[in-house]
Amino acid sequence: MATLLRCRPIIAPPTYSFNHQPSLSSANFRIRASPLLRRSRHRGLRMAVAAALETPMEQQEQQQLKKGIAEFYDESSGVWEDIWGEHMHHGFYEPDSRVSGSESDHCAAQIRMIEESLRFAAVPEEAEKRPKKVVDVGCGIGGSSRYLARKYGAKCHGITLSPVQAQRANALAAAQGLADQAFFQVGDALNQPFPDGEFDLVWSMESGEHMPDKPKFVSELARVAAPGATIIIVTWCHRDLGPSEESLTKWEKDHLDKICKAYYLPEWCSTSDYVKLLQSLNLQDIRTADWSANVAPFWPAVIRSALTWKGFTSLLRTGMKTIRGALVMPLMIEGFNKDLIKFSIITCKKALN
Ligand code: SAH
Repeated sequence: MATLLRCRPIIAPPTYSFNHQPSLSSANFRIRASPLLRRSRHRGLRMAVAAALETPMEQQEQQQLKKGIAEFYDESSGVWEDIWGEHMHHGFYEPDSRVSGSESDHCAAQIRMIEESLRFAAVPEEAEKRPKKVVDVGCGIGGSSRYLARKYGAKCHGITLSPVQAQRANALAAAQGLADQAFFQVGDALNQPFPDGEFDLVWSMESGEHMPDKPKFVSELARVAAPGATIIIVTWCHRDLGPSEESLTKWEKDHLDKICKAYYLPEWCSTSDYVKLLQSLNLQDIRTADWSANVAPFWPAVIRSALTWKGFTSLLRTGMKTIRGALVMPLMIEGFNKDLIKFSIITCKKALN
């Protein structure tokens, strides 16, 4: 597991080149990052090398990562729900605000995160234009889907790697009278079980950081989006690199490495990497924002909740994966404080034709 979760570079941000229509595999990204192969105009050669670079070992590592993610969420989702409720994402707060410890405040902040994301992406509110079919990619226990189903009267389909989450999400939908509007299943974001052009809102709330193949992830989001659809990605990124930087510093890489191990994350990328990927797919109206200051009160609150008697005893009842996740929470705060970790929103529209 240690080798699998090592933050090995999957893509090399500073040297991307999207001048040619890319074949969006991680392997091809590495080709693009290689000066020698980048200079090669021979598309056939580039494709062949890309295929060869997708080694069985890499495929095996991706399978192992998926297994780890599924087990992590199978194990930890119950305790999270007990303490934090149905939304497994950050809250959105006013920067520098003093936040009381009340759980309902944090729950309201999580709802606000959904609303701010919709507003930022300019998702239409008018009855005839608002989303009617939504995909929730990396849906957790379905909190966003049920919220969007109620808000828009839309049909929402969620996918997660965790069978426990999918089952719980469906049970909650039934309990909340949404069984005919919100549907959840085990499915892989990198190979979504949906036809092309199916959804008018494509929603990924804090799942992108788990994706080992960012080009494939983004291309799948674009594939299932209908013409004119809105795509919303809210995700953890590392800081953008400066013009003279080739990579993060050793300390930064080591720091992210520790977080990767605990949360089953592959290599991180920057917000501008996402922008380049979206541009390469000809997606329109690309917008980004750094919401790191808006989520700052969240991790201290999660740590406080873990230190209550209820939090502590619930954690002990779960398992090592969840406990390990809890132990690295201070590293997330340090990463934000050192401007290494960014909480980013990236949105765009799919062209009408
Ligand atoms: N969006 C949810 C949950 C965020 S937790 C919420 O806001 O409440 C991250 C989620 O991403 C988990 O449900 C996990 O199973 C899912 N995930 C990670 N990698 C995935 C993949 N390759 N395919 C589908 N889901 C994935």
